[in-house]
Amino acid sequence: MNKVLISACLLGRRVRYDGKALTVAQETLQQWLEEGRVVSVCPEVDAGLPIPRPPAEIAFGDGASVLVGSSSVVAKTGVDVSDYFLKGAKLALELCREHEIHVAILTEASPSCGSSVIHDGTFSAVKKAGQGVTTALLRQHGVTVFNQYQLEEAQDALLNL
Ligand code: SF4
Repeated sequence: MNKVLISACLLGRRVRYDGKALTVAQETLQQWLEEGRVVSVCPEVDAGLPIPRPPAEIAFGDGASVLVGSSSVVAKTGVDVSDYFLKGAKLALELCREHEIHVAILTEASPSCGSSVIHDGTFSAVKKAGQGVTTALLRQHGVTVFNQYQLEEAQDALLNL
């Protein structure tokens, strides 16, 4: 059975920077959980960041820029947390390899998990097109990444593997 990687905060785990979850109560997710398809991941916490933690944003560019070292992830406190984000991305990729996962549903707009938009690096709630660090690494290795608003598309992708 094909498994799917899902951001832990979408599954009700209180792992976000503010100590909250972003639960998605959708039939599709419930069905996948019952089928045993779901592998949960929180790249930031898996890498060792605490809950709660200061919000962080990608300074410029996006997750792909962080992967090649041309940008960094900076916490609102000014601390460079790129190493945690890179480690979390690698751990997520390891999970995909271990469970032969080709489809992921990750939380939109996160500096780790965003897949089409991220915050612009100014901590002013402004978003721009881009992907997070984990999403960028997974995509580079052939994983198709969707967000929580694309469960139907993800379902189709899972069925067509
Ligand atoms: Fe959710 Fe991803 Fe942020 Fe963890 S790193 S809290 S899974 S969005």
